[in-house]
Amino acid sequence: LAAREAIASGTWAFTLGLGNTPLAYRPGQTIDLILPKPIHEDVAGNRRTFSIASAPGRDTILIATRLRGSGFKRSLIDMPLRSTLEMEGPFGSFTLPGRPSSVVMLAGGIGVTPFRAMVEEVVTRPLGHAVLLVHSNRTPEETPFLVDLEHWNAANPGFTYRATMTGMARSHVPWTGDRSRVSSDYLSKILPKGPDPSLYYVAGPEGFVRAAIEAVKDLGIDEDRIRFEEFAGY
Ligand SMILES: Cc1cc2nc3c(=O)[nH]c(=O)nc-3n(C[C@H](O)[C@H](O)[C@H](O)COP(=O)(O)OP(=O)(O)OC[C@H]3O[C@@H](n4cnc5c(N)ncnc54)[C@H](O)[C@@H]3O)c2cc1C
Repeated sequence: LAAREAIASGTWAFTLGLGNTPLAYRPGQTIDLILPKPIHEDVAGNRRTFSIASAPGRDTILIATRLRGSGFKRSLIDMPLRSTLEMEGPFGSFTLPGRPSSVVMLAGGIGVTPFRAMVEEVVTRPLGHAVLLVHSNRTPEETPFLVDLEHWNAANPGFTYRATMTGMARSHVPWTGDRSRVSSDYLSKILPKGPDPSLYYVAGPEGFVRAAIEAVKDLGIDEDRIRFEEFAGY
């Protein structure tokens, strides 16, 4: 455990050092993180699945999570830095296509983690993808990686970030951007008009994923152009 940092309200990122064991993975893949010596008990055990939130090629990886009280997550917060953790992986095929494509990503809250890795790859290597990331949260305070994603949006013509805040009544931060839930009505307003060859990627807690897939289908998009990753356990 190399570093930890609060990145949004109730939300932390953890940097995991890989030591001398490089990890070959594709952005969008997950690892299983295992706490060999958890500090707090957890009836669900000492293993959880996390999407890798950083692009490959470094001697560290980044993961991020909402803290809602499990012993596993309290242990991650309370254990000393430099503690040794175990991981298995990489797992999964929720990854970008090999050939240049137009990709619309729909993220609910912490579901942005696999997309952060994909976007970091897209903005640092010339892959030729055109990416629109729609990110739904209640408030800016609760939005993971808002600063990184706004920065990449400003600096890269091939990447567009569209954050939408659905609970601004609870916020103390000014917000002039979108406030809609991810619905077919909202998507039809923000997607480019005309023929749409895009692939649709959806990630987040179960309720968000279900609603976002319905919204995309309501636009007339075939199921075989929709891919999703559900964060079971939320
Ligand atoms: C493919 C895949 C990828 C994933 N990637 C990630 C990732 O990148 N980041 C990530 O955080 N998780 C990810 N998950 C989910 C992760 O594995 C955990 O299941 C999840 O974070 C819940 O963790 P926890 O069990 O420690 O519970 P906690 O989040 O600590 O919550 C403890 C329990 O309290 C209850 N609870 C407390 N507060 C609330 C609340 N406000 N609303 C609802 N229930 C509440 C819930 O029942 C929950 O089980 C992924 C899962 C899968 C399958």
